[in-house]
Amino acid sequence: MVTQFHRPTDWAIDATRRVLTVTWDDGAVSEYAWEPLRRACPCAYCSGEGSFAGNVSDATVFTERQATLDRVYPVGRYGITPAWADGHDTGIYTFKMLRTAAGLD
Ligand SMILES: [Zn+2]
Repeated sequence: MVTQFHRPTDWAIDATRRVLTVTWDDGAVSEYAWEPLRRACPCAYCSGEGSFAGNVSDATVFTERQATLDRVYPVGRYGITPAWADGHDTGIYTFKMLRTAAGLD
């Protein structure tokens, strides 16, 4: 099985619709609504690590700021880190995660 590794060529924060739009190198465009994106934060604080369950679950209610996307930083050649309006910016979302979440791979 051949797995092709795709990277974004561009991304944009749409504050009106509260979505992150990612354009991929194969031409696909995917959108991620801010709140589900925040909920999916893979960092140890949010999603847990080992026996620690994490602070975010399906039942977590986010404040406006927690679910407001401020900026997006590239992380190496494999992912991005969203910086949320409440200052949270420790989650690394790999391109693979984002492609899978969008149903692309
Ligand atoms: Zn997090």
